[in-house]
Amino acid sequence: MRVVRETELSLTVELGELSVTMLLDGETTMGADCLRGVELGPDALVEGRLPLPVRAFLVQGQQGKLLIDAGAGNAWHKGLGRLGGALAEAGSGPQEVDVVALTHTHIDHMSGLVDGDGGLAFPNAHRVLVATEELMAFRAEPRMIPVLPRLVPLEQGDGPLPGVVAVNAPGHSPGHMAFLVEGRLLIWGDLVHHTVQLARPEVTWKFDEDEALARETRARLFDRVVGEGWLVAGAHLPHPGIGRLERAGDAYAFHPVTR
Ligand SMILES: [Zn+2]
Repeated sequence: MRVVRETELSLTVELGELSVTMLLDGETTMGADCLRGVELGPDALVEGRLPLPVRAFLVQGQQGKLLIDAGAGNAWHKGLGRLGGALAEAGSGPQEVDVVALTHTHIDHMSGLVDGDGGLAFPNAHRVLVATEELMAFRAEPRMIPVLPRLVPLEQGDGPLPGVVAVNAPGHSPGHMAFLVEGRLLIWGDLVHHTVQLARPEVTWKFDEDEALARETRARLFDRVVGEGWLVAGAHLPHPGIGRLERAGDAYAFHPVTR
């Protein structure tokens, strides 16, 4: 893996035929009580709160551009919704996105599909892939009405772009999906919300819809990532959101990719 471009809001790595670009939608904070089963010292907190970066990823190759997650748009916390700026910095534009796939249908991953005027933020993305288990939740969100004609069900094993395969990762949400790129980089969505969940994978997140299943999925995928020697990328991992996972006993550590 080679870093080929880095800007304030983006970082691009090359993997064989495809490149993967981290796009920073912004940074916010969450209440310390969002982490379940652990007490954090004050130095792990920012003004008593947990730092939470929000990232999306663009996978591109000869066959097109796939956006994985769409950020929060203007629907959630201040400081988010910078995805368009991140794309521009990375040398791309919203009209160049051919297909969008969501890891899941929480607000910080899907809201950016619609722009500030209620129109399609990615007008040429004729397919928006959402896990079958979450189609109902997606359809129930009034903000997403303009996207509905483009909605396509997503299942494990589907390939939203040649070289990219969907991998079930349920727990945080019922249809939570990871994406394996070129058989060696796993974009794992919300498998981890804070680094303490690397050191202590049993720690869960307040908004996990099924905490026990989220914990089980995290353990299973961590094991698989290390066993296969995959690289990882995550929506809420520390800067730059792409790197390598290392195991030491029951604990894991994230090593960010460097130039
Ligand atoms: Zn999230």
